[in-house]
Amino acid sequence: MKIENKNRKYITVKGIVQGVGFRPYVYRLAVQNNLKGWVKNTSGGLYIDVEGKEVNVENFLAEIKNNPPKLSKVAEIYVEDRELANYEKFEIKKSNGAEGRVTLISPDIGICEDCINDIKNIENRRYKYPFTNCTNCGPRYTIIKGLPYDRYATSMSEFVMCSECGNEYENPLDRRFHAQPTACHICGPKIELVDSRGNKVLREDIIKEVVRLLKKGVIIAIKGLSGFHLACDAKCEKAVEKLRDRKNRPTKPLAVMIKDIYTVKKYCNAINIEEKILGSERKPIVLLNKKNDLLLHNIAPNNNKLGVMLPYTPLHQLIFDEGVDVLVMTSANQSGMPIIYKNDDAVESLKNVADYMLIHNRDIYIPVDDSVSMVVLGEERVLRNSRGYAPININHHMSNEILACGSHMKNSIALSKADNIFVSQYIGDVENIETYDRVSKIIEHFKSIYYIKPEVIAVDMHPNYWSSEYIKEQNIRHIEVQHHHAHIVSCMVENKVEDKVIGIAYDGSGYGTDRKIWGGEFFICNYSTSERVGHLNYLGMPGGEIVIKEPWRMAVSYLYKVYGDELDNILPESLRVKEISNLKSMLRHSMNIIDTSSVGRLFDAIAVILGFTGEVTYEGEAAIFLEYICDQNETSSYDYNIQLIDDEYIINTDNMVKELMGDINVNVKKEIIARKFHNTLIDFSVHMCELIYDKKHIKKVVLSGGVFQNQILLTGIYEKLISKGFEVYTHKLIPCNDSGISLGQLVIANEIIHKNSPLW
Ligand code: ZN
Ligand code: ZN
Ligand code: FE
Repeated sequence: MKIENKNRKYITVKGIVQGVGFRPYVYRLAVQNNLKGWVKNTSGGLYIDVEGKEVNVENFLAEIKNNPPKLSKVAEIYVEDRELANYEKFEIKKSNGAEGRVTLISPDIGICEDCINDIKNIENRRYKYPFTNCTNCGPRYTIIKGLPYDRYATSMSEFVMCSECGNEYENPLDRRFHAQPTACHICGPKIELVDSRGNKVLREDIIKEVVRLLKKGVIIAIKGLSGFHLACDAKCEKAVEKLRDRKNRPTKPLAVMIKDIYTVKKYCNAINIEEKILGSERKPIVLLNKKNDLLLHNIAPNNNKLGVMLPYTPLHQLIFDEGVDVLVMTSANQSGMPIIYKNDDAVESLKNVADYMLIHNRDIYIPVDDSVSMVVLGEERVLRNSRGYAPININHHMSNEILACGSHMKNSIALSKADNIFVSQYIGDVENIETYDRVSKIIEHFKSIYYIKPEVIAVDMHPNYWSSEYIKEQNIRHIEVQHHHAHIVSCMVENKVEDKVIGIAYDGSGYGTDRKIWGGEFFICNYSTSERVGHLNYLGMPGGEIVIKEPWRMAVSYLYKVYGDELDNILPESLRVKEISNLKSMLRHSMNIIDTSSVGRLFDAIAVILGFTGEVTYEGEAAIFLEYICDQNETSSYDYNIQLIDDEYIINTDNMVKELMGDINVNVKKEIIARKFHNTLIDFSVHMCELIYDKKHIKKVVLSGGVFQNQILLTGIYEKLISKGFEVYTHKLIPCNDSGISLGQLVIANEIIHKNSPLW
């Protein structure tokens, strides 16, 4: 028998290939090409063994390379020739796990068009079924307890499929072939409505009842894909006020979920790319520019932006189908606590917040908040990596298995194995035992699903971060990484920049090597080293960290630096009501003062001088106020000074403060002053880069730190640097704020070990 035109290939596909419909896709492709053999999922990737006519095998391979399933992310494909095995059919083999391998996990995916059609179609057996999903959509990361990704290793294991679901699940030509969370009315999870004491509310149509209650102004906790939301009618002022009051959240913007993109455009401007991100399968909250005041002011007060998302689960879809347009949908947690995801906890902790709870019996194994993105300079910038995005996988050469603990606020953690870095979702501010436990749970989960045994732990230098407690409990060596070096390196890694760069780190606070609080820093750095070459002048924080909540203290500090005891004569309106003599004496005697070079604190000070009177109740509140009031067209700026002191360039802000106070004296509009302030920051940032370039001849500039969430600043500094011939790198996938830090810590620690640096 002639066999020369027959061919057998053994193919390994790595990347996100599980839970994305890869096996049925391969099956269909093999059958179409008349190939025999098998496909199998393992924790090391997807293995395919095929044989058939050479031309068919080539077609098959080309298809996999060029048109893999939409949700998959193919990282590598290896192809080997093998002796013919004379298979008789093509089959999908059972999955098996194997230690020592790396498999990527798919994030959760918003409901797909086909599933939306199923639940809207009265003829379909999943009509109005709130847990409808398929291989193209539904929960993944949040229900996975272990790998390989199979139903028994998820929180769907307790639901036994009915025969119809079973048939679909077994049929390679069905959209639900091996869709692990597949279910229906008969066999799957169910919703339930309970009151604030946990008593069941019996209604024929629960969804209709929920919508009726929402329209009455009631607050309902809704269990979603990855945690609980608190929902209320966004058009009902009383409900929104009640929610703010009960959550003790006076001004922090609330996210809304809007029925569809047409309705979104009634309230917000959305450019093309924003529309695409909103509608993508990741379904994040996108910060959009408000169009008008059609929506209540108290949803996002003193803010140009509104956080908007579209319905992303069948349950949401069904609620909106009953006739609501816009719901406030904010993560359900008690102030400062991590997101709630268990039914019992919801009843216990939300009884004083929610009037009712819409719960269900599909357990969430790993809780995840909603992701947040914004578009600046034409590109998506993720501000919070969570549902739909996490876990993040980054390909980077790593020589060690390391755990990076991340920051204290806006924490995320990261772990490495072989050439993979896994960054967790945003976890929250690790300020209480509950969040500490949550971080620990996620660390353990990552270690177990990816089979990682960290040899080293990377932590921030700050002595009072949660991680300094954590490392005491672990019997593993640790490496301390400076906060802002980690910021810059996280941006370098995401942009694949390896050579020396000028790093600008602007943020609220980070512990410096001189034990002062940094946050307006210029470095020359690479992955392993950083040299501080300049910074914003040091200012005293009267009373220490309390200034973060009480920004007026920083205003006094900035004014005192310029005017000394004369400052009484120039006090702006917002400070006249404050008792400042005590502060003055603290500053005069340098008592109870911690020095800071933070740009975040500079923003706070100027915001207060321009009329921000309250306390800061959420991070960045004063800075957001300042950006909010900015005039859009003003181009002038204030004077400043850069002095070379001990080989560091120090930005002196005295002239800026003087000129700004001068403007206030002659009643220049605060919108103009705020913009001139922003322009000044842009000016001196670029000026610093020019000075550093003259000395070091480095053209690459990396921008990182939470202050770069400020759109005017990011755009201004970026564009001006580009116009001067610099190459500028910014954050996109990894947040510029502290939840991006774990990635930087990990790579720095790896480099320190690898280079056997003295720090090791
Ligand atoms: Zn689907
Ligand atoms: Zn079923
Ligand atoms: Fe930071």
